Amino acid sequence: MECRGVGLHSGAPVTLRLLPASAGSGIVFRRTDLDGFSVEASSRNVARVSYATSLMKKGVLISTTEHLLSAFIGMGIDNAIVELDNLELPILDGSARPFVEMIEEAGIRQQRRARTYLRIRRKLELREGDKFIAIYPGNAYSVSYSINFPHPLVGREVLQVELSDGQYVREIAPARTFGSRQEEEAMRNQGLIRGASLENCIVLTRESIENPPLRFADEFVRHKVLDLIGDLALLGKQILGSVVADRAGHAMHTALVSRLLKDPTLWEETAREHDGTHSASEGAASSILTATAD
Ligand SMILES: [Zn+2]
Repeated sequence: MECRGVGLHSGAPVTLRLLPASAGSGIVFRRTDLDGFSVEASSRNVARVSYATSLMKKGVLISTTEHLLSAFIGMGIDNAIVELDNLELPILDGSARPFVEMIEEAGIRQQRRARTYLRIRRKLELREGDKFIAIYPGNAYSVSYSINFPHPLVGREVLQVELSDGQYVREIAPARTFGSRQEEEAMRNQGLIRGASLENCIVLTRESIENPPLRFADEFVRHKVLDLIGDLALLGKQILGSVVADRAGHAMHTALVSRLLKDPTLWEETAREHDGTHSASEGAASSILTATAD
């Protein structure tokens, strides 16, 4: 299963391909332009987190991983190889929907080995000025996100979702990334958003948006949830717990991941979901993308 596009920040053309992987291997990126150098989708490889989350291992970069990783979590994919021939994943339409469609087309295979979950046992709260992120014990993976963005079409948006019953695919995956004309020049001067266009992000002007319609009235907070799920995927396991975030971003999302992993008393690994709950992964052992001929 293959797609082509450009990187949001680099503007670099890239071909991305999804391949099956054996149980227990997790999500592994492979740079085909660098002799297949592999970088695991793991917190220990997190490099830069400002406007996107990037992984780096021995100087080899994999940029803007969050939308694809989000789709993997939302679809219950534990193991896959992601081949790309450049340093940044394609932005496509700015959401995770094209990745969801690729996964659906490829198919999902249940593997024999049971999935391992990371069950939160004690709360962890991080604060930074007016930004906040926390994770609490819970029997399923749920996210509550609030943003407060000074724009007539945005303002305060709050969204709570349980990643169950296809909610991710319907409610989260289609939400696109966004940016404002006012910040554009400063970002371009930092070497960012070279691949941005009206086809791959919602562009906010002072009063309105340049490329309506929105896919949801509250598409902005939905995209923040999409990003959060993608960043928390760097834990390497499906989560059983509830996340609360207020005005957070990639830096705080990934800080939560590394703080969690540093303190093993906060969580436990378990092969079982709690009784009486349904999550996106209900009943599933580790799953995988089936091999497909192109
Ligand atoms: Zn995003």
